[in-house]
Amino acid sequence: MRVFSRASFLFLLVLIGLVAACSGNTVTNANAGNISGTNMTTTETIDKGDNALLAEWTGPYGGVPAFDKMQLADLKPAVEKGMAIGLQEIDAIANNPEPPTFANTIVAMEAAGRDLDRAETYWGIWQGNLSTPEFREIDTELAPKLSEYSSKITQNEALFARIKAVYESDEMKTLRPDQQRLVWLVYASFARRGATLDAAGKQRYAAINQRLAELYTLFSNNLLADEEGYVTILTADQLSGLSPSLVQAAAAAATERGHEGEYAITNTRSSMDPFLTFSDERDLREKVWRTYYSRGDNGDEHDNNKVISEILELRDERVKLLGYENFAAWQLEDRMAQTPERALELVETIWVASLARVEEEVADMQAIADKEGAGIKIEGWDYRYYAEKVRKAKYDLDSDEVKKYLQLDKLREAMFFVAGELFGFDFTPVPEGTVPVFHPDVKVWEVRQRETGELVGLWYLDPYARTGKQSGAWANSFRSHETFDGVKNVLASNNSNFVKGAPGDPVLISFDDATTLFHEFGHALHGLSSNVEYPTLNGGVRDFTEFQSQLLERWLETDEVIERYLVHYQTGEPMPKELVEKLKKAKTFNQGFDTTEYLASTLMDMRYHMVDPTGIDPDKFERETLAALHMPDEIVMRHRSTQFGHIFTGEGYAAGYYGYLWADVLTADAAEAFAEAPGGYYDKELAKRLIDLLFAPRNAVDPAEAYREFRGRDADYTALMRDRGFPVTAPAKSE
Ligand SMILES: [Zn+2]
Repeated sequence: MRVFSRASFLFLLVLIGLVAACSGNTVTNANAGNISGTNMTTTETIDKGDNALLAEWTGPYGGVPAFDKMQLADLKPAVEKGMAIGLQEIDAIANNPEPPTFANTIVAMEAAGRDLDRAETYWGIWQGNLSTPEFREIDTELAPKLSEYSSKITQNEALFARIKAVYESDEMKTLRPDQQRLVWLVYASFARRGATLDAAGKQRYAAINQRLAELYTLFSNNLLADEEGYVTILTADQLSGLSPSLVQAAAAAATERGHEGEYAITNTRSSMDPFLTFSDERDLREKVWRTYYSRGDNGDEHDNNKVISEILELRDERVKLLGYENFAAWQLEDRMAQTPERALELVETIWVASLARVEEEVADMQAIADKEGAGIKIEGWDYRYYAEKVRKAKYDLDSDEVKKYLQLDKLREAMFFVAGELFGFDFTPVPEGTVPVFHPDVKVWEVRQRETGELVGLWYLDPYARTGKQSGAWANSFRSHETFDGVKNVLASNNSNFVKGAPGDPVLISFDDATTLFHEFGHALHGLSSNVEYPTLNGGVRDFTEFQSQLLERWLETDEVIERYLVHYQTGEPMPKELVEKLKKAKTFNQGFDTTEYLASTLMDMRYHMVDPTGIDPDKFERETLAALHMPDEIVMRHRSTQFGHIFTGEGYAAGYYGYLWADVLTADAAEAFAEAPGGYYDKELAKRLIDLLFAPRNAVDPAEAYREFRGRDADYTALMRDRGFPVTAPAKSE
């Protein structure tokens, strides 16, 4: 589940490899912004030729992408020309002889890079929906060029001098709050990346970044080497408990490694997890468990401990150059949490509740083991295995039965119903052929305000799997809302990978997939409801940007949706109450384990980025920190330090892994507001406040302030504990 968001040039700087907060994947095509031709008197106009990927969008709805004219041969020249034009536009702003003002600097930057934006829209489609080996070659070639483009802009000293002048000007105080926020976001995006340093500082800053980039690659390669280098080979008599499909996958993996006739458990999560869940062979479970959790920590040439020490020391040095206390303080400055202390306060509160739930889970499992006469004490390699037995005994669900009530088309209608009730949006199919699409499977709807008939934008849906399409589900926007240079309507899209049924047959999906469908639609509605004036203000805030989508998932479980749309594909009967209850209960299954393994990694992430890392020994630091936290013996960090790619193969999630939890707390707390409202989840007044305060302003308002205004207080952590079925003993944090 990813969000790509078309955004401004600032977005490119801040979030290159942006907010894929859903899955932890990164997206490399965050867009650049644009400049109108008004300042381009000093330079020659670059000839765009007849490249369809650079052309202005024409046709209905304020112009739409020419997806019917996409030619891969045009991509590289389009991106290169788009960048050249973008740089020319930036130079024109930087070298403007007029004194710097909000209009001729900040607003002009908002208008820069539109050509590259358009080229990147098509680039994103090839990346996500239509990839081919030929495309991937071009992609590999273009990615570093885009990063160089972004560096050229941040390192433009004349440009930064103007931005700084506006930021410090008297004019700044006369601007509207959203305009002031825009100036701050632009200024901070430069300053936080070294623009304020003197020449020597800049040189050191660049050297650190270069070394860090090497270390990130090294970390990643070491981890990969240990994932590929270790495999547990089994014989036919060692397969007890494994399902036929697991056995089949293990046989194929063995054959691939030259062990025809045997079975291989590889050293990856997708292989380890089901093996530990189902294998009856306790010794083998222990072996697979130990091998998996030793990745990067084997004391050999692929050991990541020294790599981590160097990364931490360099990060610390770099942010100290900029005057920050530690890396976490630098990282959280422009996030909703704002300070590491606030993020830690949340994490530590949930940690205590989560440990209490683990004790209950272990007790449930131990009881089963004792009843079976296993004669064991539950260990790390037993957790998943006995948890599965608990699940069968207490939370069992027939997933095939559930699917009969989940038809893709009906779920889409359910989403439109929710969007109508909450947002006042009407969705109408666009007649086939009026809006170009990049594949015949893609359908397009027109979105209008129900009351006024005013056009909001278009919603593109690409529901089915195909070769060359990324796995998973994601949302993106081809065009975001803005008004500063004429009103632009939104072009939002949702993408998923359902298997197409036979013609006329309904596509039946799992409850998890239905939840994801609502989740991604939440991202689309967040984009469609935007009312910001400037493109940059559409940008995501990493620990806030999953809130809107996660919250929308809750409407799938409302009675209104269940009764009208979760109906049996043959009988038309709504899903029975008992089944709904079972589904809700199943969501709390194993939450102690899931939350604790995640939080252990989160806590370690924060500690690493708050201590003085001089001479740190990660192995020892991890051991001592976990002991001090009373980490349960039965659970391992979801990602041990030497395996923690989120934080050591790049920077987006470094001191930022807490972000998933942050959004979860907001979601649980906001959901309680609806549960308690007079009209419940369809309370008109509360829905209006939600949209006005937490959807429409995007990043034009500080998210923490916006949330406080919505709820009358900060989010209450205990809402999440109730949501996950944790024993709630801590007092509510509300004031
Ligand atoms: Zn998401």
